[in-house]
Amino acid sequence: MTRLIALLVCLAGLCAGAAHAIEPAFDPAAATEAWLATMGPEATARSNAYFEGGYWIQYAGAALTILISLIMMMLGWAKGVRAWLERTVKFYFLVAFGMGLFYFFVSSVLTFPFAWWVGFAREHEFGLATQTFSEWFGEYLIGFAINLVVGAIFIALLYLVIRAAKSAWWIWGAGLTTLFMIAIIALAPVYISPLFNTYTPMAEGSLRDSILHMAQANGVPADNVYVFDVSRQTNRVTANVSGMFGTTRISLSDTLIARGGEEGVREVMGHEIGHYVLRHMTSILVMLTALIVVVFALTQLLFARLTRGERWGVRGIDDPAGLPLAFALITFLFALATPINNNIIRYHEHQADIFGLNASREPVGFAQTALLLSEYRKMRPSPLEEWFFYDHPSGYARVRMAMEWQAHETAAGRYLARPAGPPPGWRPDFVVMRESQATPEPSPAAASD
Ligand SMILES: [Zn+2]
Repeated sequence: MTRLIALLVCLAGLCAGAAHAIEPAFDPAAATEAWLATMGPEATARSNAYFEGGYWIQYAGAALTILISLIMMMLGWAKGVRAWLERTVKFYFLVAFGMGLFYFFVSSVLTFPFAWWVGFAREHEFGLATQTFSEWFGEYLIGFAINLVVGAIFIALLYLVIRAAKSAWWIWGAGLTTLFMIAIIALAPVYISPLFNTYTPMAEGSLRDSILHMAQANGVPADNVYVFDVSRQTNRVTANVSGMFGTTRISLSDTLIARGGEEGVREVMGHEIGHYVLRHMTSILVMLTALIVVVFALTQLLFARLTRGERWGVRGIDDPAGLPLAFALITFLFALATPINNNIIRYHEHQADIFGLNASREPVGFAQTALLLSEYRKMRPSPLEEWFFYDHPSGYARVRMAMEWQAHETAAGRYLARPAGPPPGWRPDFVVMRESQATPEPSPAAASD
C-alpha cells in the first residue's frame, strides 16, 4: 500500500525533479536556436508561407470535391447516368463500375485547374519543382488513368459489399477498404512507382555498406537499398519504406544523396529502418481502419437521413446514383478528422525519429536534414498548430530531439564526435543558393531605395 501511494505521488509529478538532476553537456534549447538561426528570416518567412498555404489548400480541395458532388446530385446527373447504365450494361457490378468512372472522370476534369495550381504553378512559385508543364502533365495523366480505373474497380466492389450487407455495410466496407489498401501497398513498388521514377540499387561504397550494417544490426534482412530519381519532379529530399510481404524495400531519393551529406543519409535511413522494425505499416493500417469504420458508420447515418423519400432519385444506400453524395459525406468527415489522421501518422513518425537517432547516432545529420525539410515545412508552429496540421514532428521538435540526445550522450561520454550546434558557417543549401542568386547588381535604382 505504501508503495502504491509512493507510486501515485511519483505519477502526480512530485518526483519529476529527479529528471532534472542530470546535467546535459550543453544547453539543448540554445543549441536548437543556433540551428534554426541558420535559416535566416527570409527563408523562414517563405517556408511558413508555403506550409500555411497548405492548410487552406487541404480544406479548399475538400470543399471543391463536396461542391462538385452536390452539383452532380442536384442537377440530376447521377440519377440520369445510373438510369442510362441500367438500360445499357444491366449488371449491377457494371452499373456501379460505370458510375465510378463517371464520377472520377467528371470530378477530375472539373478540378483540373485547382490540381494544376497546387501541383505545378505553386510548386514553381516556391522553387520546389523541376518539371516543365508537359512533363508534369504527362505524369498527371498517368496518375489520372490509374485513379480512374483502380478507383472505379474499388467502387464496384464496395457496392457489391453494400448490396450484400445492407445497413451493416460500413463495417464490411471498412474491411474491404483495408484489404484494398494492402493490395495497393504490396503492388505499388512493382507496378505503380516505376511509372513515375526509376529505382536503381544504390552504388557500392562505404555509405551503402554503413547503411546495410545499420539495417542488419537492427534485424532488417536488407541486402540492398534503392535510389530513385526524385530530381525528375522536385528538389525535395525524401525517403520511404514501401511495399508489403515480398515487395518491401527501403528507398532514398537522389536529391537526398546530393544534398543530405553522408551523416544526413545515414540518419534518414535509420528513421526508415525504424518504420520497418517497428512494423509501422501494419500499425498504421490498424489505426486507419478504426478511423474508416467510424467515418463509414457516420456516412451511413447521414446518407439515410439526406436521401429520405428518394430525394435526388436515390433509392437507398445500395443505389449507385448516390455515389457522389456518399463521396461528399466521406470527404467531409475525413476533413473533420484531419487532426486524428495527422496524429496517427505523427505518432509513428516520432517513434521512427528517435529510433533513427539511436540507430544512426547522427544528431548533426538529423538536425541538418530537419533544416533541409524546412524548405517546405514550417519550422516552429504553435503547439495547437502542430497537433492539428502536422503529420511529422515539426523541424523545431526534430532539431530539439537531436540536441537533447547529443547533449546527454555527450555528457555520458558516449558521443564525442561533434561540438554543440551547427558546424561553423553551415547553412541550408537552398538558403545559400537563393542568396547567391538574389545578390543584386549595384545600380542607381537599387541605391535609391
Ligand atoms: Zn517517416
